[in-house]
Amino acid sequence: MAELTQQFKEFASNAGADLVGIAGMDRFAGWPPERSPVSIFPDAKAVVAVGRRITRGTLRGNEEGTNFNTYQSFGYHWLDNEFVALTVFECVESLEDGGWEAVPLFPFPPEAWPQGIPVRPDMPAPNVYPDFSHVAVACGLGEIGINGDLLTPRFGPRQRIQLILTDAPLQPDPVCQSRICQDCMACAESCPLGAISKDEFDDLTIAGKTMRVAKIDYEKCRSCQNGACPNRYHQAGKPDRLGAVCNRTCVEALETREILAESFQNPFRKRNAWGIDQIGNVTELPVEPASSRESEEGE
Ligand code: SF4
Ligand code: SF4
Repeated sequence: MAELTQQFKEFASNAGADLVGIAGMDRFAGWPPERSPVSIFPDAKAVVAVGRRITRGTLRGNEEGTNFNTYQSFGYHWLDNEFVALTVFECVESLEDGGWEAVPLFPFPPEAWPQGIPVRPDMPAPNVYPDFSHVAVACGLGEIGINGDLLTPRFGPRQRIQLILTDAPLQPDPVCQSRICQDCMACAESCPLGAISKDEFDDLTIAGKTMRVAKIDYEKCRSCQNGACPNRYHQAGKPDRLGAVCNRTCVEALETREILAESFQNPFRKRNAWGIDQIGNVTELPVEPASSRESEEGE
């Protein structure tokens, strides 16, 4: 099992995966059937979360407020539809070349359930869509931050995840024990629409790991003009927030504190962040670049 797992991880890395995490099926005990990977492949032995990074430069046009299409293409649509999907498909082919069945899963929004009729009385209606961020936590890739998004020790919020269910007996990775979110509330402070609560939180437990997550008004996120994108598969789905000012501020917060394994020669935020409020006014947000904070502290 260890050798098969190592060979699989090496193959995934060569196929472009930046992140690979594996969970045994016992980690999904108690999940609602309409959200559980077990419902999709009851005989699976492992769930694999495969991730590729959203490159930091992909966020640059959003950060400067001058080019949103680069992120929408290379950070969202093409990254998911082509780059991650290709990596996942090659991994699936590799497993099936070895005689193991492997189911690739694409991140359709779980909020779109149900879309069909249960085919047996004890089964959920199709289509079962797990929450990929939650599955990624179960697979050991990271945690859900205060901002409600997946944070990993290497990239913070900068990645896209897809899944593979397989009957290959792959060795599970441990659930991530390191603390990534710093509870700094910079994401909430930066949101021009006040969508992330600063004083109301829920505890979220996944595979025995409990995380504090702020209450988030996703209706506000749906109208956000600060780098968020509508969910491209279903209007009921949560909007994509990874390029929005809340998550760009999280990138800055985690890099400044040197929490992330991936580091850069120059700071991410070079100027005060910009924001657009609910009626379209452009404001300067109370979110300064780290470099200006450091120079003030040095005076
Ligand atoms: S997506 Fe927009 S509205 Fe939602 S939390 Fe982020 S900045 Fe605020
Ligand atoms: S900005 Fe701070 S509080 Fe918000 S998710 Fe990132 S690290 Fe956590």
